[in-house]
Amino acid sequence: MNLSEKIRNIPDFPKEGILFKDITPLLKDSKALKEAIVKLADLFRDYEIDYVVGIEARGFLVGTPLAIELDKGFIPIRKPGKLPYDVLKISYELEYGKNEIEIHRDAIQPGDKVLLVDDLLATGGTTLAATKMINELGGEVVGCAFLLELAELSGREILKDYEVKSLLIE
Ligand code: 5GP
Repeated sequence: MNLSEKIRNIPDFPKEGILFKDITPLLKDSKALKEAIVKLADLFRDYEIDYVVGIEARGFLVGTPLAIELDKGFIPIRKPGKLPYDVLKISYELEYGKNEIEIHRDAIQPGDKVLLVDDLLATGGTTLAATKMINELGGEVVGCAFLLELAELSGREILKDYEVKSLLIE
């Protein structure tokens, strides 16, 4: 199946000038969803992984089924104020303004090997912030997995210390 056809372009969302890649048609199609998850898992089956870590919110939609497919547990990285236990927080710069994400401090133990997952790689800022949190907790990022990578935004360059693999590259 041509999975790229299941990703819809939405002009001017969430604001003017942005072409948003909408993955909901892919999620809605059972065959496309299954194929995407199995193929993404195939890219990392040979890796030694303890946990899959997904970034809110679309990283949960891809990360949880990916964790099941790889027979691993899932750890969420969330927006501030959502996780109930002791958290580690990080702030990072966006094109306009700042963003923050959190992880439970006890979710990662020193030496844990994690696969980081999000739906889409754009500038890489979100994933880089997530790698910093995992490193600070003593974990090791063994890979970063994305359904879709927007190559012209060069997210791969700021993630050059990591193994980055995307199912679809545009
Ligand atoms: P980055 O931090 O790499 O610049 O942006 C990636 C993050 O923003 C991901 O969490 C992703 O979900 C979200 N994102 C940015 N642009 C898009 C887009 O066009 N489509 C989707 N589905 N997510 C986007």
